[in-house]
Amino acid sequence: MKKTTPFGDLEIFDAHTHFFSRKFIETLIGQSSHLSGEADPIGRAREMTGWTMPPADPAELAGIWKDELEKHNVSAAMMMASVPGDDTSIATAVSAFPDRIIGGYMFDPTRPDAEARAMRAFDELKLRVICLFPAMHQYSMAENEGVRAVVALAGERPGTAVFVHCGALSVGARKKLGLPSHFDLRRSNPLDIYKPAAEFPKARFIVPHFGAGMFREALMLADLCPNVSLDTSSTNSWMKYEAAPIDLPAVFKRALAVAGHERLLFGTDSSFFPRGWNAQVFDAQVRALVEIGVSNEQAAMILGGNLRRLLSKGKEQ
Ligand SMILES: [Zn+2]
Repeated sequence: MKKTTPFGDLEIFDAHTHFFSRKFIETLIGQSSHLSGEADPIGRAREMTGWTMPPADPAELAGIWKDELEKHNVSAAMMMASVPGDDTSIATAVSAFPDRIIGGYMFDPTRPDAEARAMRAFDELKLRVICLFPAMHQYSMAENEGVRAVVALAGERPGTAVFVHCGALSVGARKKLGLPSHFDLRRSNPLDIYKPAAEFPKARFIVPHFGAGMFREALMLADLCPNVSLDTSSTNSWMKYEAAPIDLPAVFKRALAVAGHERLLFGTDSSFFPRGWNAQVFDAQVRALVEIGVSNEQAAMILGGNLRRLLSKGKEQ
């Protein structure tokens, strides 16, 4: 499947989307005594979010996403289960549409048996991207033993990656449902990834949103560690934190100068319906790439080729 772009007809792979399963919604409802006491908590969650509530069967939601991706001529997307313990929902989606959905899973390495849980997700559930949120679960990427164990596993498994959310973290679903976010943003520094990235050079790391406000640190990390890629997803509203005004073309230009065109992964951060796949984010990033004058080959890599290579099991990486 190819999508028409100013750089020609390209295979598009979205490196960052969320699989908001019914279990995801129910888990968040369970964290709110107010919501879980409602007569119809799902109906109340629909009202509070304005979102279409996902069907109970993750295979059905996967079918909705498959149609959505095809409608936009997007070849495949990394979709992550977005609460710990929801691995089986995304695994069901992957087994329904293995060509369209690459499975990622939010993982809390501070809970017991981190290594065994990650091994099961990689090897039995066939999930490819382990997604860490150190600010949310309050641990250090540099010091946590569970992190070290799961990074080692990823390093031994070609075709997998370790996604680490850094910088500003705000979870739209939590906000809309009125849930508190007791995060520790001191754990959000991309430089904390240096230690495991250097120790396990075969593990491939993805830092989303260009570091989400810690752009300089994300660039430092990518410069020092060839196994770190940056994803370009979301509206990148962190740009407002920069000391000097910066726009998306300038962000891409600086990231290209440091990380190069082989380590930038296009992503949208799409998550809920009815919005579906966020074409506006794609369009804005394509405009930025046009403005800074990347070649057709570079655009093809950023918009899809790099993610495919990163998650391939062959020798090409
Ligand atoms: Zn996201």
